[in-house]
Amino acid sequence: MGGAKNYSFFAEVERNFDKAAKFTRFDPGILEQIKACNSVYRMKFPVRINDKIEVVEAYRVQHSHHKLPCKGGIRYNINVNQDEVMALAALMTYKCAIVNVPFGGAKGGIKIDPKKYTEFEMEKITRRYASELVKKNFIGPGTDVPAPDYGSGAREMSWIADTYASYKPGEVDSLGCVTGKPITQGGVRGRTEATGLGTFYGIREMCSVEEDMKKLGLTAGLEGKKVIVQGLGNVGYHAAKFFYEGGATIVGLAEYEGAIYDENGLDPDKVVAHRKETKSILNYPGATNIENSSEALEMPCDILIPAALENVINATNADRIQAKIIGEAANGPLSPEADAILLKKGCMIVPDMYLNAGGVIVSYFEWLKNLSHVRFGRMDKRFSENQNTQILAAVENLTGKKVTDIERRQLSHGPHEVDLVYSGLEDTMIDSYHEIREMMLQLGTNDMRTAAFVVSINKVGVAYEELGIFP
Ligand code: NAD
Repeated sequence: MGGAKNYSFFAEVERNFDKAAKFTRFDPGILEQIKACNSVYRMKFPVRINDKIEVVEAYRVQHSHHKLPCKGGIRYNINVNQDEVMALAALMTYKCAIVNVPFGGAKGGIKIDPKKYTEFEMEKITRRYASELVKKNFIGPGTDVPAPDYGSGAREMSWIADTYASYKPGEVDSLGCVTGKPITQGGVRGRTEATGLGTFYGIREMCSVEEDMKKLGLTAGLEGKKVIVQGLGNVGYHAAKFFYEGGATIVGLAEYEGAIYDENGLDPDKVVAHRKETKSILNYPGATNIENSSEALEMPCDILIPAALENVINATNADRIQAKIIGEAANGPLSPEADAILLKKGCMIVPDMYLNAGGVIVSYFEWLKNLSHVRFGRMDKRFSENQNTQILAAVENLTGKKVTDIERRQLSHGPHEVDLVYSGLEDTMIDSYHEIREMMLQLGTNDMRTAAFVVSINKVGVAYEELGIFP
């Protein structure tokens, strides 16, 4: 993305903001305040690697303080730079607002190639970065809560939580200083699959609106809809799996080594097993090989889910895309040119800012769990089960009929943590979809990205207006 010499990712985000801001009623000063990054912390710190001292460059950007804490991942990548971290922090503000997660946006970046370091060295770098954040009050359950991004995962989040707790002995909520932790360190069940599952909920909701489907020449519902997914990583695999289980037909799956297509449908779990065994997605029994993986995007389908990389649909291939619905599970899979071409063709493009927000939604649940110090469902699971059992017994008594053992288990089941997390995610994705759809109708456009931006600016703008100007 950031290859061109004068390219600014942050300026690109500002351009999209300006395009949407025209449809809002805010004072230019408020709009300027929403757009700006509130705090940018650029740091350099030394780390001893073998016998040498390496100076590491890193960032934490808090884009907006209209809601606290701020929230956003930490990227470990050699190409990390201030412009990129600022842009990603801004996008987090808008993403959180769209899905009603009461946080301001933030992002962190450590400019290293994580592959170059041993686990011990990674731990040293991560802990030092965390301590720099503590020193400047750029981390804490009530101020700024990082999460994983490229190059980091649950392991790094554990180190950060532990470093923070060491500096703040006795701070009872300290586990809430970071999300994406392992379950054993205060993580929440359902976080791993959250983004893929959120993608599924969002698209399923869209397909349930009969009048919108009619406009696309499709029937309502997911049943039998042909889906192609690009990328079988965390997001793509889970999205494909939930689409498959939800009754859609997965006709195509693409990975970097190639793609496969089968009109009769593919079972994602079986494809993943085949890929593990043969080290390639190609030559899957009954499917057609597509040697040039990106051509899979152009195959016939109703729904296309790019879930791998940015910029995969651009001016060179947008014309040949046959899907009517494009769900941006990855970040930035469409170039602005592709966006314009596909909108003109009448496609519905479900923007990344909304569709892949499942991760941050469930991170919010993790933070809530950390602050309440209790697993979701712990207090009421058994109570619900007992009540359900009593209701069932009463119904059986009244009707004189007995349910089957499977039905009994399903009906009496009390909610486990994962059930509640899924339920919260589903509800959030559904509600937010309709907020965006309402805005599209109000603006008289099929440009869901701009509508989502307007919804988001409206919420952040109202928060700033109500806060007033201090002093
Ligand atoms: P991942 O690394 O687990 O998966 C990416 C997959 O894409 C890998 O299997 C990779 O082999 C495959 N891939 C790479 N190049 C490809 C190509 N040219 N054609 C087809 N497949 C290719 O990453 P992820 O976590 O699933 O993230 C995917 C996208 O979703 C990224 O854009 C990321 O920013 C975005 N996203 C992820 C999350 C999350 O919670 N993981 C949240 C929001 C957004």
